Amino acid sequence: YEPSELIATVRSLLRLRHAEQQARLRTDQLIEMDRRKDEFLAMLGHELRNPLAAIMTAIGILERKGPVDTKEARMHGIIQRQTHHLARLVDDLLDVSRITRGKVELRKEPLDLAESFQQVLSILRPRVEARGLKLEVRLPQTPLWLEGDATRLEQIFTNILDNAAKYTDQGTVSVELFQEGVDGSAQAVLRVKDTGIGIPPEKLAGVFDLFAQVDTSLERSRGGLGIGLTLVRTLVRMHGGSVEATSGGYGEGSEFVVKLPLLAPERIPLLNAANAV
Ligand code: ADP
Repeated sequence: YEPSELIATVRSLLRLRHAEQQARLRTDQLIEMDRRKDEFLAMLGHELRNPLAAIMTAIGILERKGPVDTKEARMHGIIQRQTHHLARLVDDLLDVSRITRGKVELRKEPLDLAESFQQVLSILRPRVEARGLKLEVRLPQTPLWLEGDATRLEQIFTNILDNAAKYTDQGTVSVELFQEGVDGSAQAVLRVKDTGIGIPPEKLAGVFDLFAQVDTSLERSRGGLGIGLTLVRTLVRMHGGSVEATSGGYGEGSEFVVKLPLLAPERIPLLNAANAV
């Protein structure tokens, strides 16, 4: 080596080391910022929760008293709907912050998915129909036994159905729940298809990301924080399942498919086994 060559090599090595140090610094900063964001969201959720709980208690008391006239009854309705909406946003915010910090545990028990799905449907059917949409439902003839957390599974179904209604202005929301495969590889499949605004292909993969919203003015006006589908994906995975979205593109409707592993026949609770055959 010529001395000048050696010096140049040492210089470029030093430059590389410097670049590496800078990159590490930036990564540390990003990790720290991410941590502070999670902390802030958790704090925000808690701070909003208490006043909201007080408002909801007060509304409950007013409701029991009964409205004075129809105008007041209408106001009660508005306050109640909007507070519920706010409460769901806050719950979602707290949930997602707990989940990202690994603080959510499932309370699993053997349950019939078809039954818990029907419970969700009874609540959501009026909401879908109130938007002038047709709801088509196909449920299995036999129970679908799996080991899951009933509340969380209902949350998964509610979020997907709610979205189908929210992002569809006219037409049909069709829902299908069925079993695929047998024994060890049996899984429950839930398909929710709508004739709504659809999702452009380049945005499909991202819809499950936290705070993701397919960003158009049309869609922004529908509210929401872009948390629902992140919760759906995390909760589905915690049940050992998967979720996928497809769409023909803008204006072509969307389809969400959730797959969840079913219980092996020998693990179905004995008292209910007769129904499962
Ligand atoms: P949001 O609170 O915005 O609804 P989600 O996490 O539930 O948050 O959904 C993320 C984004 O995915 C939505 O903002 C919307 O752009 C898109 N999306 C979800 N479901 C549908 C659907 N059925 N049709 C069209 N777009 C949808």
